[in-house]
Amino acid sequence: MSIFIGGAWAYANGSLHLGHISSLLPGDILARYYRLKREQVLYVSGSDCNGTPITIRAKQEGVSPKVITDRFHQEFVDCFTKLGFTYDTYTRTDTDHHHKIVQEIFLQLLDKGLIYKKEIEQTYCETCSQFLPERYVEGICPVCKEPSRGDQCDHCSTILEPLELLNSRCKICGHPPTTRFTEHFYFSLSSLQDQLENYVQHAENNKLWRDNAISLSKRYLKEGLQDRAVSRDLPIGVSVPVAGFEEKKIYVWIEAVSGYYTASKLWAKETGKDDSSFWNSAVTSYYVHGKDNIPFHSIIWPGILAGLGKEPLPTHIVSNEYLTLEKKKLSTSKNWAVWVPDILERYDPDSIRYFLTINAPESRDADFSWKEFIYSHNSELLGAYGNFVNRTLKFITKSFDGVIPERAISPAIQDKVQSLYEETGCLIEAASFKQALERVFELVRFSNKYFDEQQPWKQVKEESESCGQTLADCVYLIANLAHILTPFLPFSSEKVKNLLKISETSWKPFLVKPTVLSNVEPLFERIDPTRIEEELERLNKQTV
Ligand SMILES: [Zn+2]
Ligand SMILES: [Zn+2]
Repeated sequence: MSIFIGGAWAYANGSLHLGHISSLLPGDILARYYRLKREQVLYVSGSDCNGTPITIRAKQEGVSPKVITDRFHQEFVDCFTKLGFTYDTYTRTDTDHHHKIVQEIFLQLLDKGLIYKKEIEQTYCETCSQFLPERYVEGICPVCKEPSRGDQCDHCSTILEPLELLNSRCKICGHPPTTRFTEHFYFSLSSLQDQLENYVQHAENNKLWRDNAISLSKRYLKEGLQDRAVSRDLPIGVSVPVAGFEEKKIYVWIEAVSGYYTASKLWAKETGKDDSSFWNSAVTSYYVHGKDNIPFHSIIWPGILAGLGKEPLPTHIVSNEYLTLEKKKLSTSKNWAVWVPDILERYDPDSIRYFLTINAPESRDADFSWKEFIYSHNSELLGAYGNFVNRTLKFITKSFDGVIPERAISPAIQDKVQSLYEETGCLIEAASFKQALERVFELVRFSNKYFDEQQPWKQVKEESESCGQTLADCVYLIANLAHILTPFLPFSSEKVKNLLKISETSWKPFLVKPTVLSNVEPLFERIDPTRIEEELERLNKQTV
C-alpha cells in the first residue's frame, strides 16, 4: 500500500509557534508509523514563500523578500529537524520547480475550461497605489457583524469577497479602498458541485475526516460552490502563464495547495523514483493542518485534482481545532505565543511531542499551559514510562551484571502487547492519535504495577527463577513499548532501542535478543516545578 502525507505549508513570514506544531505533528506520527509498518510512504511539505505579508515585511526591513523567506525557511527546517519531523521532501514555493509545475497545472485547467477569464471590479487602494489582496482588506463581516478579513471571516467561517465587507479599509494604510476594473482568471468550482458533493458524502459515510472538516464542507456545498478568482495583482508569486497577463500572479488558492503535487515531483526528481506511484486510486492520502485550512483541502484541492483527473482526492483530512495558551487565544501580533525555537532551547522534543499529542485539539480546542506541560513531563513521561524503563534496567545491571535473563515471555503479557499493536495501529490509521497514546500509557501503568507486584527485589533473594521471569517480561514490555512509541516519541525510543540493541522490525511484537546492558542512563530528566513560574513570567513579559 502507498501512503501520501501532506503537511500544511507554513508561511515564511514569522517563526513557528506551538499552535502550528500541534496541527502539523500528526503528519509525522503517521509517516513514522506507516514506515514501521513497511508501507511506501511519501511525506511532503514546505514553506509558503509567496504573498503580500512577506513583501510588506521585506519593505519594512529594507531587504528583498528572499531575505525574509530564506531566514524563516531555514528556521522552519531547523525546528522541524529538532522536533524529529521526517519529511521526505521539505521544499519551498519560491523555487523555479514549483513555479513551472504550478503554471502547467494552471494551463491544464485553462485548457479544460475549468479556469476562465472575467472582468471584475476589485478593491484598490489609492493611497498605496495597488490592488488589495483579500487579506489586505479588513472590515465587518456582513453575516455575523464581527471584525473580519476580506477572504474569510474567522468568527463565523463564511467565505467572503472583499467588496462584501462593511466599513472596509486597507490593512496597509488604514484608508477606505476604492475599486477598479481589471481582468482576472476564475476557477469554475461551481461546475464541480455534484462531484464534490458525492466525494464529501463518501468521506462522511466512511468517517474518513474529522467532524469539523465534514460539517464545514457540507455547509459550503449547501450554500452552493462559488467560482473563485485565481489570479491576483501581487508583487511576488507564480506568474500567470498567459500572454498579456504575466504581471498577474496565480493566487494562493491554487498555488499553495498545488505544492503537494510539485513537492512529490521534486522528490521524484531528487531520488530518481516514480511519483506516479503516489498519484493513483490505490493510494491512501492524509492531509494534516489546522481547521482554518479546511476548505483548501476539502473543497479547493479536491476540485483541482478532480479537474486534472488525478487521484486520489484527499482520503483523510486531519484538521485539528485550535490550541489555546494558558486558556487564551494565541496571538502572534500580541506575542501571546510559545515560539518553537525558544521552547526547543530549554525542553526535550519528546516532551513537546508527548504533550501536544496527549493534549491534542482533535475534536475541540485544547490548552497549553506551562503547569500542565511540566506536570505531564514529570508524572507521565518521567514518572511512569521513564521510571519503569530505568528501574528495570538498573535492577538488571545491579543484580544480573547487566545480562538480560532469557525466558519464554508470559502468555498474558504477550497477549497484552499483541493487542496494543493492533489497537494503536487502528487508532493511528483513523487519525485518533491522542487515544492511541492513551492506550500505550495504560500498558505503561500496567507494567509498573506488574513490577511492583512481582517485587523482583525480593524475588532475587528468595526465588531467582521467578525473578528472571519478571525481568524478562519487563524487558519485553520495554522493548515493545519503545517500539510502539517510536512514531510519538522518536528520541527516547531510539535511546531504548540502542540500550537493548534492537534493530529494525515491523509493526508487531518481537523478542529482545540476548544482550548485556551497559551505560543505562535515565530516559528523561525531572523538570523543577519552579520553572512553571519562570516560564509564566517570561511569557507575560514578552506580551505586548
Ligand atoms: Zn462572520
Ligand atoms: Zn492603503
